[in-house]
Amino acid sequence: LLITFEGPDGAGKTSALTELVPRLQQIVRRPIVVTREPGGNPISEAIRQIILDPKNTAMDKRTEALLYAAARRQHIVEKIRPALAADKMVLCDRFVDSSLAYQGAGRDIGVTAVGKMNKFATEQLAPDLTLYLDVPSELGLQRIAAHRQSQNDRLDQEALSFHQKVRGEYLALVKQYPQRIKTIDATQSLEQVIAACQTVITTTYRD
Ligand code: C5P
Ligand code: MG
Repeated sequence: LLITFEGPDGAGKTSALTELVPRLQQIVRRPIVVTREPGGNPISEAIRQIILDPKNTAMDKRTEALLYAAARRQHIVEKIRPALAADKMVLCDRFVDSSLAYQGAGRDIGVTAVGKMNKFATEQLAPDLTLYLDVPSELGLQRIAAHRQSQNDRLDQEALSFHQKVRGEYLALVKQYPQRIKTIDATQSLEQVIAACQTVITTTYRD
């Protein structure tokens, strides 16, 4: 079972995921693996460092998209696929939808082109369920600014319009894949967001 967590910056995905796991593990019998993109294994974490390094201002947007896809590929092969084969529940902080939203729409490479690149990288591995934590761009950016020190990466410098394009694509994906993607209102308190995530997951999967 592959469950992905998506959303704009400042939606609170990582915070929600961290607190959700111990609660879920009491309800779900199968082992839970928590991981993130880009990253999740040494090669992909190294690629993450390159992508997010504030010094890498020269990075071309297609190079960036390829690096995300490369990190994802290695993550799938090393970690996600083996966990799924062992019948574990995999919770992943970001997946292909992030690339469609950030590189496809945000960077204007095109959602179709980025989608094709990712089909090559994933060999069509798709999430069973995606929780989309929705937050307006203004609020997301406010939240990020509030803990700026811990968030000091290259992508922090993007304008509001970039984040609006990202969110716009997420909302388009929600319309396109209503079965797979469930929206969580992430303007709520963290506690409410966690409870909503837990409800969606446990009502979808009882085992
Ligand atoms: O998920 P996390 O917040 O750790 O992502 C790190 C940074 O990478 C964020 O600034 C996010 O906007 C950016 N990102 C991106 N394209 C992706 C995934 C993440 O620009 N496909
Ligand atoms: Mg995060």
